[in-house]
Amino acid sequence: MILPKPNRLNPAQLAEVTAIVTEFGCKIQPIIGAARTIYAIVGDERDDLMINRIEGLDYIDRIDRIQSPFKLMDRRSDLANGRLKIGGITLGEELFVIAGQCTIDPKNPHYFYETAAAMKEAGAHVLRGGVWKPRSNPYTFQGDNQSLEILMEASRRTGLPVDTEVMDEDHLKMALEAGVDVLQIGARNALNYSLLRAVGRAIGNRPQTSVLLKRSVHMGPLNEFISAAEYIAAFGNPNIMLCPRGTTPTLDGYRNHPDESATPLLKEKTWAAVVVDPSHSVGKASYVPAAALAAIAYGADGLCIESHISPSHGIGDDPKQSITPEVLAKTITQAKQLWAICREAKRTAAALVS
Ligand code: PEP
Ligand code: MN
Repeated sequence: MILPKPNRLNPAQLAEVTAIVTEFGCKIQPIIGAARTIYAIVGDERDDLMINRIEGLDYIDRIDRIQSPFKLMDRRSDLANGRLKIGGITLGEELFVIAGQCTIDPKNPHYFYETAAAMKEAGAHVLRGGVWKPRSNPYTFQGDNQSLEILMEASRRTGLPVDTEVMDEDHLKMALEAGVDVLQIGARNALNYSLLRAVGRAIGNRPQTSVLLKRSVHMGPLNEFISAAEYIAAFGNPNIMLCPRGTTPTLDGYRNHPDESATPLLKEKTWAAVVVDPSHSVGKASYVPAAALAAIAYGADGLCIESHISPSHGIGDDPKQSITPEVLAKTITQAKQLWAICREAKRTAAALVS
């Protein structure tokens, strides 16, 4: 990883560095961090001669040779100096909330417009709405392209950025053309490396776009989760949030095994924001507020919660696990209070150690 002295290399400097790495069979991939652009050497970057020649250039600060399976997402990466900003929030500085319906019902768009207004009122920063749905049962509603228009109209009406899941490259293309702000990679596709690469490539030059990467139902080691994020970041855009959402085997009674406790472990390994989804984790509306607060207690930067203006009129997961806007508003208020308590506790603990 090449760290330049200026915020970014000018075209002549980039050409000079590119010429050197090309001699050694490597390529340069710029990664646009919030603090400065860094330059990944793609290929075998271990050649000392190549490293010495680059380090000898007077506009190069240094070369990081982090021994990590995820050099960009690693806590020690220069990207750790940046902060992701979405919907007027700097993640890590204030509680960040994505909320909205599991699924947009294209036959009844008024529900989504009402939900959207209510999410804004409740204090959400990003509106979620499923356009295309990964359903276990092939005979249930699979989503509808028409819902994309409803999602973007809700965004225009509320001024909120929007999040929706993309399951393949057609969805990706349509979502980006429509102007979706946060692309969600669901639990079923978190290990689909072709899709991860395609998403990375598609947003490499779109710093305004972010990705919410869910933890796969079947993911064991956390390195596997962070490496999935690395696939996306490696194309130039590190705007990635990691989203624990419950795994299998399930905890008897919950939809999945709640995994918000992975938050501090992830934070030890990576600088990425952790945005926990309590809805798919516990799978029942009445359990969601406690699971959301548990995530905050574990140090999550944000929450992704399913909420519907009238859950019983929803489709997909909404009837069973969406909370009402009233419950959402209360949960956000309590989560903010807990956030402040946890921050204070962290400061006190740090002061005791120092
Ligand atoms: C969803 O967010 O509605 C969804 C299907 O999530 P997951 O991929 O976590 O199951
Ligand atoms: Mn859902």
